Amino acid sequence: MSLLAVGTVAFDDIQTPYGHAKMAIGGAATYFSLAASYLTSEVRLVSVIGDDFPEETLNLMQGKGIDLQGLQKIEGGKSFFWAGRYHQDMNGRDTLDTQLNVLADFNPILPESYRTTPYVMLGNLTPGVQKQVLDQLEGQPNLIGMDTMNFWMDAALDELKEVIKRVDVLIINDEEARQLSGEYALVKAAAHIQKMGPRFLVIKKGEHGALLFEGDRMFYAPALPLAEVFDPTGAGDTFAGGFMGYISRTEDTSFENMKRAVIYGSAMASICVEKFSIERLKQLSLSQIEDRIQRFVDLVQFEQK
Ligand code: AMP
Repeated sequence: MSLLAVGTVAFDDIQTPYGHAKMAIGGAATYFSLAASYLTSEVRLVSVIGDDFPEETLNLMQGKGIDLQGLQKIEGGKSFFWAGRYHQDMNGRDTLDTQLNVLADFNPILPESYRTTPYVMLGNLTPGVQKQVLDQLEGQPNLIGMDTMNFWMDAALDELKEVIKRVDVLIINDEEARQLSGEYALVKAAAHIQKMGPRFLVIKKGEHGALLFEGDRMFYAPALPLAEVFDPTGAGDTFAGGFMGYISRTEDTSFENMKRAVIYGSAMASICVEKFSIERLKQLSLSQIEDRIQRFVDLVQFEQK
């Protein structure tokens, strides 16, 4: 089934202990839609770019079945730009620069054909833009997912809460869950956040995996221990793309299926970080993805005597 994604399509400047990628292709929606495109039939993108964004990447996305009708191109404008430097341990990172450019005046317009999309992902953006997308939907989608970050909790908490109230699954990291709830223990944070609206909550814990919550049910998926992580940029968005892509393919929003979706998200994220930027997401085969899923199964399976 089709899946609508709103978020950034961007240039990134990334420094990791393995190197420095300048003007690399990035953006939350880029990672999300590429990852999801391997799992579900039609990904519909809502975003904005300047006329500096390479045609080659747009062609790559279209070649993967990603619908770009909702991607606005501003003539004479510059695409969103983000620069970051990872710490030696690759877990923490510092944002060195964020230039909104064409995103500053982004007014998302959903093409008519997008308005009844059954699965929706609100990527990390201003809550105002996320709300504008929700307001243009006709009927109730089967599942609305959402990402956000500390920045919006500091800058626009009331508006953010309004959007959170309207979504089914919030996908955030542990630090964000703690800030949003004011609770340190993640189980308490999860209970608090679910009272704010979302029926499901996914808390990503980087190299320590991800937790899924629904009411008092909980599921834990590890991250695959890798010998080398070249670039963690986009891992969270790729996780969300794998997660939402799997749910929209299977059309099943039960807790049992969400568990599998968390594993698909973790598997796609583990592939993404093996090279810089979107490099690993350019050409994947289904058997490579299935092999990676099997490695997760092998990682946690054991015989109970
Ligand atoms: P992640 O590593 O999953 O947090 O996502 C990194 C991607 O998010 C990068 O490719 C950036 O272009 C994009 N990004 C960075 N800062 C922001 C922001 N404030 N809003 C939206 N997207 C951002």
